[in-house]
Amino acid sequence: MGKIEHYKVDGGKLVRERQYCPECGPGTFMAHHVDRKSCGRCGHTVSATADSSD
Ligand SMILES: [Zn+2]
Repeated sequence: MGKIEHYKVDGGKLVRERQYCPECGPGTFMAHHVDRKSCGRCGHTVSATADSSD
C-alpha cells in the first residue's frame, strides 16, 4: 500500500472524500445525498452519477 489517498470506496465506486461547491469555491463543501450532492449555501446541485473522473 502506498500513501493514503483522499478517496474512499463507497458502494463499490471510488468517490471523493469531500467535494467543495464549484460556485462557492473551496471551504464550502457539498452535502452528500444518495444520488446527488448539494450546496447548502447557494443550492448548487450535482448528480453523483454525472461526476466526471479526473
Ligand atoms: Zn455553493
